[in-house]
Amino acid sequence: MKLPIYLDNHATTPMDPRVLEAMTPYFLEKFGNAASSSHSFGWDARSGVEAARNQVAALIGAKPNEIIFTSGATESDNLAVKGAAWALREKGNHIITCATEHKAVLDSCAHLQKEGFRITILPVDRYGQVHAEQVKEAVEPRTILVSLMAANNEVGTLHPLADIGRLCRERGIFFHSDATQMIGRLPFDVNAFHLDMAALTAHKFYGPKGAGAIYVREKVNLAPLMDGGGHERGMRSGTMNVPGIVGLGKACELARLEVVNEAPRLAALRDRLREGIFSKLDRIYLNGHPTERLPGNLNVSFGEVDGQSLTMGLDQIAVSSGAACSSALAKPSHVLEAIGVSDELAESTLRFGVGRFNTEEEIDYTIGRVVETVGQLRELAIK
Ligand SMILES: *Cc1c(COP(=O)(O)O)cnc(C)c1O
Repeated sequence: MKLPIYLDNHATTPMDPRVLEAMTPYFLEKFGNAASSSHSFGWDARSGVEAARNQVAALIGAKPNEIIFTSGATESDNLAVKGAAWALREKGNHIITCATEHKAVLDSCAHLQKEGFRITILPVDRYGQVHAEQVKEAVEPRTILVSLMAANNEVGTLHPLADIGRLCRERGIFFHSDATQMIGRLPFDVNAFHLDMAALTAHKFYGPKGAGAIYVREKVNLAPLMDGGGHERGMRSGTMNVPGIVGLGKACELARLEVVNEAPRLAALRDRLREGIFSKLDRIYLNGHPTERLPGNLNVSFGEVDGQSLTMGLDQIAVSSGAACSSALAKPSHVLEAIGVSDELAESTLRFGVGRFNTEEEIDYTIGRVVETVGQLRELAIK
């Protein structure tokens, strides 16, 4: 076993070597511009992109022409939220989202609010879920978009997307999901969830960084964020990141073939970690839903320990602290706040993210280190 141990797979994942292998030719001999149609360099690049489009579509139950390539989920979320709002501004001005969304969605909504759109931010329950009833009550005649994440990146909670999607479809309201944490980690079907848009990114499931996509249902047209050559149904101009797109496609193919085995394997490792820690420590609290959560996710608040000392004590284990997605800002996470975790407990919260390359041995080592470190810190505090 090699140290340090990587258990931060919600932040990003290592690339699968099979993905790198698929990408390599597209940096070297197949370097053409996918939009150049007059020679074989362009054709080779183009066929790599189109094969990837098929692979992405197959993973999420979409048609290939419903996949638009982007630089990642931040861009996809911006395109979904702003692009829908700008395209539908004649029809309405009201958008519904929730308190635990990623900043890519929340800040896009804040941007639109400055332009005069009205935003309803639904609260979540103590597990981090929004329920269809809440959406139903928040809908107004001028509502044009509901944007709810599929799975939360901090506490792993899954939303009941199918119920909410059905409701949106009945009312003719666009339904977008930031599905970045769910796609590639659990089976996902855009039609089962009645989605119009969905965001995904390769680096959250063993693909390269800077390569993502947005699913945009046929006949749905979003206003583009950038003007230019009119690529990708006019919704995303710019020369395509061919190696990145090929890598995204390969990561999708691997997920499609392996997710049914991988999800339960990661859930078993996560359960082993949870049981190992919870059986040996008291005054600790599980955040997120007990069952409706991502297979690799464990989020725990450790009572009566100093958060900074805890992360320092676990220096050989790469996890995220309670400041999680906003670590650079050193503020307690808005997600933990939304589910009712106190600022004090949020600071001594750890997010473990188990991924494809973690082993049982690493989990057992982590249990030992966490139990030992928390025990030591609590003893010091008594003295
Ligand atoms: C990682 C993440 C993003 C941002 O994805 P990038 O490809 O890094 O821009 C957006 N939403 C969620 C839920 C994420 O986990």
